[in-house]
Amino acid sequence: MSLLTKVPTGADLLAEIDALRKERNAVILAHYYQTPDIQDIADFVGDSLELSRKAAATDADVIAFCGVKFMADTAKILSPHKKVILPDMDAGCSLEDSCPPEKFKAFREAHPDHIALTYINCSTEVKALSDIIVTSSSAETILAQIPPEQKIIFGPDRHLGGYLSRKFGREMLLWPGVCIVHEAFSETELLKLKEQYPDAPIAAHPECPPSIIDHADYVGSTSGILKFAREFAGDTLIVATEPHIIHQMEKALPNKTFIGAPGADGNCSCNICPYMALNTMEKLYVALRDLTPQITIDEEVRIKAKRSLDRMLEMASGTVGMGDLGKVRLSGD
Ligand code: SF4
Repeated sequence: MSLLTKVPTGADLLAEIDALRKERNAVILAHYYQTPDIQDIADFVGDSLELSRKAAATDADVIAFCGVKFMADTAKILSPHKKVILPDMDAGCSLEDSCPPEKFKAFREAHPDHIALTYINCSTEVKALSDIIVTSSSAETILAQIPPEQKIIFGPDRHLGGYLSRKFGREMLLWPGVCIVHEAFSETELLKLKEQYPDAPIAAHPECPPSIIDHADYVGSTSGILKFAREFAGDTLIVATEPHIIHQMEKALPNKTFIGAPGADGNCSCNICPYMALNTMEKLYVALRDLTPQITIDEEVRIKAKRSLDRMLEMASGTVGMGDLGKVRLSGD
């Protein structure tokens, strides 16, 4: 039976999803890169870690994660006793796909004197093989605490790793993964847009390649870009990240203008994440109704992955000082 035939004809999806949310005692999470209809029905809209932490703090029995699989996995790592559902289990990520656990393990074994600092956009298995997880908002705080003589593997995003490497003047071994969405921004088209709006600053996500980052007035995570949007002095902002984030900007700041940075032909939709786009209101409804597809994680792998996530939370909050970093032991066991 196709998915659509499982949705009652003429159903008021908003009302049906709302009723199921109550019936299931569910919390609905939406990443900033989801479509506006999904963002608007969610209990929380945010970046992946922030959403998982908020959901963990609720007494919900079910987490409906409208995002991609590694994000729903992270919610399950933090909330093992809650059911975590993802509207479409094929909602993956090019960064996660670039870094198969067995290849990452072999790479670590080839560099035993390096610690693995790993971007959260990876599988649970890769998190379990890592020492410290970082997000785009915590990466700089964490890197600043790692002694300069400590060798580092950074994966799977070579653009985020390269940005950090340049900013800190610090060499790192970079895993060669990229986000296909941020990779698709065009420098030529961006400069043409900047000519049209010379006073508009450019805010870019560090998953962008250097050709985009080099023109940015602000570089930061999705939450950082939203903060910059609230605080910059002008009235027009060029946004170089997945364009659905603009929905939150337009809601919060109706008097400002937000323009998505262009892709290669200046007018393509290549900057819309094709994985996030797999989630729809219909699939969310079916997932809440049937409690499937559901995330499951091997408990031993979950505990190892949580250890590297916990290190990030401790270091990002400053509860592990420079003196304690020597205790960060390679977890590639
Ligand atoms: S926008 Fe890029 S990093 Fe984010 S889920 Fe899509 S492919 Fe992955």
